[in-house]
Amino acid sequence: MMKKRVCILYTGGTIGMVPTELGYAPQQKYFPSLLDEISQLKNKDMPNWDVVEFNPLLDSANVAVEQWVNIGREIRDRYSNYDGFVVLHGTDTMSYTASALSFMLDGLNKPVVFTGSQIPLCELRSDGRDNLINSMLIAADGVANEVCLYFAGKLLRGNRSTKVSADELMAFASPNYPVLANVGIDIMYNRQALMMPKQAREFSLTEMKQVPIGVLKIFPGIQFDYFESLMTDKLKGVVLETFGAGNIPGSAQSALLPIIDRAYKNGTIITVCSQCSQGAVSLGTYAASSALRRVGAVNGRDMTTEAALAKSYYLLSISDDMAFVKAQMQRNLCGELTE
Ligand code: ASP
Repeated sequence: MMKKRVCILYTGGTIGMVPTELGYAPQQKYFPSLLDEISQLKNKDMPNWDVVEFNPLLDSANVAVEQWVNIGREIRDRYSNYDGFVVLHGTDTMSYTASALSFMLDGLNKPVVFTGSQIPLCELRSDGRDNLINSMLIAADGVANEVCLYFAGKLLRGNRSTKVSADELMAFASPNYPVLANVGIDIMYNRQALMMPKQAREFSLTEMKQVPIGVLKIFPGIQFDYFESLMTDKLKGVVLETFGAGNIPGSAQSALLPIIDRAYKNGTIITVCSQCSQGAVSLGTYAASSALRRVGAVNGRDMTTEAALAKSYYLLSISDDMAFVKAQMQRNLCGELTE
């Protein structure tokens, strides 16, 4: 049987970092020597693999739209040469990048597995080796044909994932969607939770643009007047992180609704997400949220903030028709939301 082929896109992140005077940082051209030390990568049961090292390598705090597009282009250009892809990425913004790629890679029919580590490969107790090997096997399997994220024994849907721990080896959770696979003695796929094959659709990359958007977290005592100047007609989208099921303070001193009303009329898409990691926004359940619907806000339902932000970038990059963007924002495009 022909060996499967996996392409490893190494973008940076803790997995390949080295200690420096300023703390851990990636070092160009160092990663191949780390891989040479992992004897399992030469095992007969491993797929064939190649590594593409990005330049510059980044701490994922510095990854944004430009890098999302670069990752998408690397996958597009190599799509027919490989059975699957592993994207090595810093954990800090991995869920944002995985969400973004899930929207950009239309008609994806191969696994794209994001992974990284909490402890660098150069350290004794690194979790990077297991994360890398399992991600490569999952990428070669061709069962989870979507953008996913593998960490510490769990395969998650990328656009449902969120970073939940800065120091546990299991750094991610998927609070509103089941795990796609549990990796113990065997890799046990949860086939009911996986995306259906997209045979009919050609694979293509839709590049995102750096559209001006923002995230505003509501907090007790928020004085909306200070945020008014942010809500100009230049701002194309805002993700509001509200309390519970979509609630905002509605007292007399709260000026949020008129601001949102004006922003919507100016052409800004306002998407309501929740500060709770589990559960869904339901505009209108409480009086404190029904007004948001009246002023044109989008119900973000059970989307993570990461997915809502990436989806805003995506939709506002492909259209400036507000009705279209608003309708698509509330639809399930690639498994990011429960309709
Ligand atoms: N700061 C690192 C990054 O996101 C953290 C990590 O990779 O775990 O690149």
